[in-house]
Amino acid sequence: MSDRKEAAAYARGRAWLELDCAALRKNVEALRKRLPASCKLMPAVKADAYGHGAQWIAKELQKAGVDAFCVACVQEGIQLRTQGIDGVILVLGYTHPQQFELLNTYGLTQTVIDDHYAKQLNAYGKKIHVHIGIDTGMHRLGIRSECVDQVLAVYQMEHLCVDGLFTHLCAADTMDARDTSYTKDQAEAFYRLAGRLKELGYPCPKLHMQASYGVFHYPEYAGDYARVGIALYGVLSTKEDTIRWQEELQPVLSLKARIATVKTLYQGESAGYGIQFTAKHDMRIATLAIGYADGLPRTLSSGVGSVLVDGQRAPVVGRICMDQTIVDVSGILHVQAGDEAVLIGQSGSQEISVCDIAAQAGTITNEILSRMGARLERVCL
Ligand SMILES: *Cc1c(COP(=O)(O)O)cnc(C)c1O
Repeated sequence: MSDRKEAAAYARGRAWLELDCAALRKNVEALRKRLPASCKLMPAVKADAYGHGAQWIAKELQKAGVDAFCVACVQEGIQLRTQGIDGVILVLGYTHPQQFELLNTYGLTQTVIDDHYAKQLNAYGKKIHVHIGIDTGMHRLGIRSECVDQVLAVYQMEHLCVDGLFTHLCAADTMDARDTSYTKDQAEAFYRLAGRLKELGYPCPKLHMQASYGVFHYPEYAGDYARVGIALYGVLSTKEDTIRWQEELQPVLSLKARIATVKTLYQGESAGYGIQFTAKHDMRIATLAIGYADGLPRTLSSGVGSVLVDGQRAPVVGRICMDQTIVDVSGILHVQAGDEAVLIGQSGSQEISVCDIAAQAGTITNEILSRMGARLERVCL
């Protein structure tokens, strides 16, 4: 069975994601429009494409002409290759020396994490393509930008093929004076290093610095690639930023689940773990076939979150369970087992966005999306 047929066989059974491929293509075009023609997209499809399903997303992106991707780890790179994704796949994070063989076998490009790591990579003894991570102020990974000698040493390593140099901006998401000044310093440090290498006669490989916020806030820092993640999926990290750019971006994902049963909860009765909810009056409740193991944050328990049923809001009753969630459907007429509930997306004139869920859970959209459960069915529209 083809992947698509196999997925269709289970589609919309219990709890599922609907992926709007047209929205994805629109986001690709919107981001390309913001970048000069010389700057290509290198989408971040790590964490199963921010929970969307890397298989679908990478294939759609490949159809849209994308030929470079970045992932967090070697396993994610292998998954893309075995699903027929060509082009550059850059592993942004740490790969254990025992897995260097896999970089070679699957034609993955590895980030040079620091000078010590470069030596380890070189000691593997077979050709490995690398991008050198440059630390310009985030102090997470990379060779410090002022250590020109360490960068040059990587170029000179026999088995390493330096295809690129990149840095990561750590305060590009706000335009506060402190953050813009920090970002400017990061960019200048990066360009200073690149300039110095050029002066010394070293070939200038691909340079890249922007992630999603960089593309929107600092178009002047466009390099050879833009490593776009969250924006590609049609949102930014917060509701405020998402609204600001909503003309250009469209959310790709909706999250839905089946109502397993509908029943009456009589006055004085409790529902769910820990006796956290007691009915003040007779009410109708519905049990949904989705829980925190599917990525619904447990902090949305006890009325913090709600779902949409037939265009109306149904607040969460009691504690969200691992696999199930109870909601209050009193006042929503004709609800029955087998109906759909919308957890993220539109229902009638109502909408719950991933930004709302992130705000309720006290986090950013990136975290909510990247934690979507592996067992959710993924349906490509
Ligand atoms: C995750 C990641 C990105 C993508 O970031 P977004 O803010 O989601 O666009 C880019 N670069 C690096 C190094 C990353 O780790």
